[in-house]
Amino acid sequence: MIHLAIIKSVRACNLRCPYCYYINNETKNYGQMISEQTIERLYFHVSQHLAAQQGFGFVWHGGEPLLMGRRRFKRFLDMQKNFFSPDQIRNLLQTNGVLIDQPWIDFFNENGVAVGLSLDGPQELHDRNRPKVSGKGSYQDVVKAIELLHKNKMMVCVLSVVDGRRDGYEALAHLQGLGVHQCDFLIPMTNNALQGNSNVGIYHQFTDFQGISNFLLGAFQRWIETPEPKIGVRLFECLMQNAFGISHGYLNAGSCNLSESLVLETNGDICLDTDFSHIDRYQLGSQYNLQLNVHNKDFSLSDVEQRLKNFIASERLDLLPEDCQTCKVRSICHASHPASRFDADGSYNHRSAYCEAFYALGEIIVDYLHQKGLSSDFYDPDLKAVLLQESCHRPHDTVAVRAV
Ligand code: SF4
Repeated sequence: MIHLAIIKSVRACNLRCPYCYYINNETKNYGQMISEQTIERLYFHVSQHLAAQQGFGFVWHGGEPLLMGRRRFKRFLDMQKNFFSPDQIRNLLQTNGVLIDQPWIDFFNENGVAVGLSLDGPQELHDRNRPKVSGKGSYQDVVKAIELLHKNKMMVCVLSVVDGRRDGYEALAHLQGLGVHQCDFLIPMTNNALQGNSNVGIYHQFTDFQGISNFLLGAFQRWIETPEPKIGVRLFECLMQNAFGISHGYLNAGSCNLSESLVLETNGDICLDTDFSHIDRYQLGSQYNLQLNVHNKDFSLSDVEQRLKNFIASERLDLLPEDCQTCKVRSICHASHPASRFDADGSYNHRSAYCEAFYALGEIIVDYLHQKGLSSDFYDPDLKAVLLQESCHRPHDTVAVRAV
């Protein structure tokens, strides 16, 4: 059941991050903001779709969503009262943090909006990867935003895009030093078809998977060394849940629950998870945009849900790709994000582009859980068997075929 809508509220940003899939030289209709009519149509269709006791989340995203301003945002939030009871919905906003000040903090508190910030690491790296339009770094602005959140006793949740040139151990230590409560490490968005593809630009053509692997291993090491209560790291926590067969719905940790959320573009188009957007952007296929719009006369969320379920089934995204079926850590990795499996043949029946990094991370997670005495609870009997065979340390060493 769809229970989350990521709302692309603004096609504009005050930063120019080189890895951004949304704001770049090709951004069409730059500056477009989502309209009240489009938001109203979304709310209407969600309210038609929701069962009485079901909850729903709205994630305000961009571009930079704070560029829509408080007055416009307040109108969008107030409109929710016409469609939902307050305990039925939750609002979260993901921001680059540059515009956060006390009036915005007061606004979030008065309107029950949870906030997530983007911070890529220590100043030198963050400023290089997340410059303002002027070219000046944005690190100090984000640190000020974090201080304001602390001062107002709010949760500090951070998304951090992994840079293979960084030391993951120090990166996590840095976030801990800033008093971050929860974080997640996002691997730069890519898929197999982009790697080595000379039509996609240098940034997406060559992803430094060795560096990313080292980063994740360093961050994981720091994480396990940290005494309780630990900073939450969603990727690590969800991969560990995979080991025990606990579902979490997190696509970056190999969930295939694409039919539980949607992306609403500023013009009302309905799209898949944003990690599929590069496929459309580089004319490798037509996957991201579902060619459905909330303003269409016969639009319904049930149709969207069915379309998403059909997509999962036709592309076999709920099954492990053949390449992964004999991998030792398949029940930890689950072939990572479904979009990362896409290759130039137009299919998803391939190991993830992130394989190198996730294989290494999967191995140390297995070792860690084994040392903790938890491996007897692994849900995958093949993984237990592999642990007993010291010689098995590469993919394709086991033989069973298993659906994720
Ligand atoms: S580590 Fe690689 S081969 Fe193993 S499940 Fe993940 S993507 Fe597939």
